[in-house]
Amino acid sequence: MLQHSLQLIKELLFPQICAGCGAWFSPLCPYCYNTLSFHILPKTFRLSDNSKMIVWSMLEFDDKVRTLIHRLKYQGMHETAPLLADLLYFATYIPPIDIIVPVPLHQNRQHQRGYNQSELLANRLTHHLQTPTIPALLKIADSGQQAKTHSKTERLQNLIGNFVLAPEYQASISGKRILILDDVLTTGATLTACGEVLLRANPSEILGLTIAH
Ligand SMILES: [Zn+2]
Repeated sequence: MLQHSLQLIKELLFPQICAGCGAWFSPLCPYCYNTLSFHILPKTFRLSDNSKMIVWSMLEFDDKVRTLIHRLKYQGMHETAPLLADLLYFATYIPPIDIIVPVPLHQNRQHQRGYNQSELLANRLTHHLQTPTIPALLKIADSGQQAKTHSKTERLQNLIGNFVLAPEYQASISGKRILILDDVLTTGATLTACGEVLLRANPSEILGLTIAH
């Protein structure tokens, strides 16, 4: 109990504590960094035009990665984004691409959070790669509870309906290699839905990258 309270006070006063062991003054200490599990093999998803969307995820979703992502998404600690994006750049294979497209948040959610974590990650990658980040997707609805009776295809169709192409960026997608960036890959449904919407603008290739899986 005391241990837990002390940890909480440290979290509040000093956000720069290790997400793994709680050591002070670093969001991820060298010891815990060395225990991260990096993924090597990408996953492949098939899109409706029969093209393949290859998705790389950098890290296994263990407790310390969960803590880092939680800080980024729910604790307002946007300074976690450059740390994770630097890891992406220095420690992960990033395929040749022309444009980075962050998975969007619904505007209500973004307003609540103050930022879109995927966009922060993308902007930092742009800084490293000199590849532009373009907010080519908009999220126009939040998927509510979905009836369990819906088939996988119906669920995907519902999810696709949550996203639209931002009209002003359609032309810049055409013929380009697009990297969709998100924080966490779970089933791949969100990235697949984003990929399907981007297909309408005729990119030459759609790829995905996430911090964790
Ligand atoms: Zn540590």
